[in-house]
Amino acid sequence: MVGSIPIQAVLVAPGVKDRKVLEFKRGDALKDRDVASGLIRSVLASNPTQRSAFYVFDLAKVVDLFRSWRRALPGVRPCYAVKCNPDPSLLGALAALGAGFDCASRAEIEAVLSLGAGVVHPRRDIVYANPCKPEAHLEFAAEAGVTLATYDSEEEVAKVRRCHPGCELLLRIKGPDGGDARVDLGTKYGALAGEVVPLLRAAQRAGVPVAGVSFHVGSGAANLDVYRGAVEDARKVFDAATELGMPPLRVLDIGGGFVSGPKFEDAAAVINDALARHFGDLPCVEVIGEPGRYFAETAFTLAARVIGKRVRGEVREYWIDDGLYGSLNCVIMDHYVPTPRPLAGARPGERTYASTVFGPTCDSLDTVVRGYQLPEMSVGDWLVFDDMGAYTTGAGSNFNGFATSDIKIYVAYSS
Ligand SMILES: *Cc1c(COP(=O)(O)O)cnc(C)c1O
Repeated sequence: MVGSIPIQAVLVAPGVKDRKVLEFKRGDALKDRDVASGLIRSVLASNPTQRSAFYVFDLAKVVDLFRSWRRALPGVRPCYAVKCNPDPSLLGALAALGAGFDCASRAEIEAVLSLGAGVVHPRRDIVYANPCKPEAHLEFAAEAGVTLATYDSEEEVAKVRRCHPGCELLLRIKGPDGGDARVDLGTKYGALAGEVVPLLRAAQRAGVPVAGVSFHVGSGAANLDVYRGAVEDARKVFDAATELGMPPLRVLDIGGGFVSGPKFEDAAAVINDALARHFGDLPCVEVIGEPGRYFAETAFTLAARVIGKRVRGEVREYWIDDGLYGSLNCVIMDHYVPTPRPLAGARPGERTYASTVFGPTCDSLDTVVRGYQLPEMSVGDWLVFDDMGAYTTGAGSNFNGFATSDIKIYVAYSS
């Protein structure tokens, strides 16, 4: 756990310490986007051969976000959802700050454990939060010593009993409707109210211990009242378990869905209130969360290079070297609304053109923006995409020979 000097701990963290960390003084750059532009310019200045799309990851952001989490939700341990962005330097920084991890597959468990035995403890620091797990992955979790996993079906109980008899379960319940999330997860996961008792009974019958309850209100939930309803529903499961004569549940996992900024403070207030109201009489319950987007989104900035241009009358068309099959897959998969800006900035009074920006592949679907106002740009110029840390690099493909994994990530620290 980190005391008053978290950045030192982060700089020597596994995943970070072997990387070159670019120090960057914010100076009088007050806006985050100016800091991001400054970071990108520093990368280019010190790496003149960098001629293709790259990311800058600002560790200072993660340190700040961790501090804000601690302040707003002091009773909730964040277990970072690895699928959101599995970059090892982000995982290492979060581990050094004291986070646990939500892993959903064998490879994610391996990525977290590879941070080192002294850093991550499989039993204490990992929740295997995929309600439906391949048997081989579950057997791996057993070998690796990961002992807490979610479920929402009777088949899963039988599978856990078969493949990982030492595992404890969190019953994943479906959050209330109406969260207006960017990505709704309730259409796929979570026990319905009427399924709770049968699922508790199934575990009881199978002799697989149930440790607690989890939910996920959806990624980027806009209506924060869903957290209130979900905490209330979770308490009903705790009571149902007691009525069935099961050992008292002791873990509440409030999932993810958080976005950084004022919305996070609002969500935290709702959650703290709901926890006091519905779990105030159960002070021993351990509360964890599974934030992904909250920690990753604003910490990564993408710089993509203009690799082609076509002028059609008043319209400008550009090709850049990342697109919808690459890390900008978030435009489709995560409803990211791109608002790229030229790294060079806009000169006052400079004319802009309705512009189309294409990705590099030969598919016409690979179009990043259309009818978007940009100043005149040239091949070799850079476009900056802010807030690109969540659900981007991890979900890109190799389509057409453009490998998302080729997009380099530079680690930086702004102060
Ligand atoms: C994706 C996911 C998360 C992270 O969600 P965010 O909205 O990014 O915070 C957490 N838990 C589970 C089970 C998930 O599937």
